[in-house]
Amino acid sequence: MLIVMQHGATEAEIRRVVATIEEMGYQARPMPGRQRTAVGLVGNDGKVDASRLEALPGVLEVIHVTQPYKQVSREWKAENTVIQFPSGLAIGGDEIVVMAGPCSVESESQIIAAARAVRDAGAVILRGGAFKPRTSPYSFQGLGKKGLELLARAREETGLLIVTEAMDSEGIDLVARYADIVQIGARNMQNFSLLKHAGRIGKPVLLKRGISATITELLLSAEYILAEGNAQVILCERGIRGFDTATRFVFDLTAIPLVHKLSHLPIVADPSHATGLRAKVTPMARAAIAAGADGLLIEVHPAPDRALSDGAQSLAPDQFVDLMRQCRAIAEVIGRRIGEPVAAQ
Ligand code: PEP
Ligand code: MN
Repeated sequence: MLIVMQHGATEAEIRRVVATIEEMGYQARPMPGRQRTAVGLVGNDGKVDASRLEALPGVLEVIHVTQPYKQVSREWKAENTVIQFPSGLAIGGDEIVVMAGPCSVESESQIIAAARAVRDAGAVILRGGAFKPRTSPYSFQGLGKKGLELLARAREETGLLIVTEAMDSEGIDLVARYADIVQIGARNMQNFSLLKHAGRIGKPVLLKRGISATITELLLSAEYILAEGNAQVILCERGIRGFDTATRFVFDLTAIPLVHKLSHLPIVADPSHATGLRAKVTPMARAAIAAGADGLLIEVHPAPDRALSDGAQSLAPDQFVDLMRQCRAIAEVIGRRIGEPVAAQ
């Protein structure tokens, strides 16, 4: 439930609404806006008697949030969430943000070569897994802490921000010390204790859609992070499981405009994992931009044939240059642009 205050409501009137909500046994979240303040009521799992709040001085209206998720919904917050980084980079604003890099950090030379290649092509964030969620326990599991150190070195070298995955609650604080954005992978989308931890790290979180998750489930997982006090969440459509094995997953393009309608959170697209096929990544990246994605997550490897994970879907640097060129053109058609690396501006 959302209590919208009148334009000229006083601080005392807002405090009284907060106190009344707390007296009723719920939590109050005041949200000052450009026009007026709204006070969110959280902690209820059923219907709340609104009449007591409606009658308070300074209250304009009480809006019932009809979705099962609250703080991530558009009803709760009408304006888009824009995640600002100290470097000036923003996710969720007018500019489209491209995150690119290898599936896994494999060595210093590999990650530095990948970082330089994606930066030179126009990416602004370097991706790379140090802790890898692999289907088989015998597959390469990532370099762990060493991988995080190499990512930090690549950041120093190129100025790119870093997004990398945290696999469990025990490891998330370590990952958050190195990463600019902490990724929660598809297989962990409903790891609720990890989501709660992610709500307390004080850093942006990239939350990937689970391979069999509905949009409602994705948004409820994001709600866990917001409910712990972290509103810096970026959603990611990375394909869902279908019956056809011709592609690795089914890229659910409709999720992008649908999420924009239901939520104020930014959503980026990962056509690499969604298709699993190198030749399909660029067409689906174009489609994602056309559908309104706020960013892309693209796997790029200096030598895809030698990649220790996901080589078949990784682009070579020259293919990524071409993807960027095509995506810039699509962005222009819809009145957006792809954000450039700070050094190249
Ligand atoms: C990844 O980004 O490398 C990854 C493992 O993705 P997902 O969780 O979407 O499979
Ligand atoms: Mn991968």
